[in-house]
Amino acid sequence: MATDGDFTYNGGRVEPGETQNIRYGISETYLADPIRIPVTIINGEKSGPTVFLSAAAHGDELNGIEVVREVAHEWNLSELAGTLVCLPILNVPGFLNQQRYLPIYDRDLNRSFPGKEGSTSANRMAHRIYTNFISPCDFGLDFHTSTRGRTNMLHVRANMDDDDVYRLARAFGSNVIIDGEGPDGTLRGEATADGIPTITVEMGEAHRFQRSLIDEALEGVMSVLAEYEMLEYTSVRWPGWRTIIDDNEKTWVRADVGGIVEMLHGPGELVREGESICTISNPFKTESTVTKAPFTGLLVGSLENPVVYPGNPICHLAGLDEQAQNLLEEEQRS
Ligand SMILES: [Zn+2]
Repeated sequence: MATDGDFTYNGGRVEPGETQNIRYGISETYLADPIRIPVTIINGEKSGPTVFLSAAAHGDELNGIEVVREVAHEWNLSELAGTLVCLPILNVPGFLNQQRYLPIYDRDLNRSFPGKEGSTSANRMAHRIYTNFISPCDFGLDFHTSTRGRTNMLHVRANMDDDDVYRLARAFGSNVIIDGEGPDGTLRGEATADGIPTITVEMGEAHRFQRSLIDEALEGVMSVLAEYEMLEYTSVRWPGWRTIIDDNEKTWVRADVGGIVEMLHGPGELVREGESICTISNPFKTESTVTKAPFTGLLVGSLENPVVYPGNPICHLAGLDEQAQNLLEEEQRS
C-alpha cells in the first residue's frame, strides 16, 4: 500500500508535504479529562511507504521516546518519500506514573493489541491507537528497553520466518537479532500477523536516556529509511558482524544462591566457556560464589539491581558461531 496521497485518521487528514503534531484522545481519566497521546505525522511530498515509529508502550521505557522525537523533530525530512507516523509515548497513563503498566489494574498495553471496542480500558486504548495509526502503515518499528532492574545491549526482535520482517530486521543493522513471534497481544506480534511487518528494538534500561544507544538506534532508523528508498543519499548499514538467535534457545544464566551480586561483565561482551561472569556474596563477604559461563557466548542482557534469590536471572547469554565470535573479538580489541 503505497502512499499516493493523504494520510487519514478518524478526525483528520494529513496531505502530502504536510506535517501535523496532534494530541489524540484514546481514553478519559477519573476526572473526566481526555487521555491523549502525542502523534506527529510527516507526509512527504513524494510517494512511498507509510511507516510507524512507536515507543513507551511500557510507560517507563524512555530511550525510544527520544529516538522517535529526534526523527520527527530534528531530522531534515523535506525530501521524504512516504509517510512517518511518529508515536513517541503510547502508554500515556504509565508514562505519567513512570511505570511499566497502565495504572488501571496494572494492565499491560503491550499485551492488549490490536485492541477491541466495547471491551476493557486497555483494549479500548489499544484499539484507538491501532485502528488510527497502525492499520494504515506498511511496516513499523516499536522501541522498548529491558524491564526495570535489568539492562540489555541494543538488539532487534523479529519473526524472521516472515520474509518482509526479515528484510526490515536486517535493514535496521543491529549486531543481534532474536528470532521469534513474540507473545500474543504485543504490537509487534499482532501487527505482523495483520500484514504489517513490525520489529521491536530493545535498548538499555528503563527510567533513563542512554545517549550512545539512542544514537545507535537513530542510525538503525536511517538505515531502514535507506532500505525502502524513503530518503536519498542514505545507505543501509552493515553492523560489522551479525548473529540471529532463536528465541527458544536463549539461555538465562541463573543464580544458584541468594546474595549480593558483583558483575564482572556487561551487555555486549563476549564471555568464554568457564569464565567468571559474576560473584554472589553474603552480607559479611565471608562467603562468595562464582558464577561461570556455561558456554562461550554473547552477554545480551544482565541485571542492574544487584540482589538475587536462588533462581533469579543474572544474565542472558547467547551462543555465537565462530565467525561472529572472531569478528566480535576483533571489534573489542580495537
Ligand atoms: Zn517494553
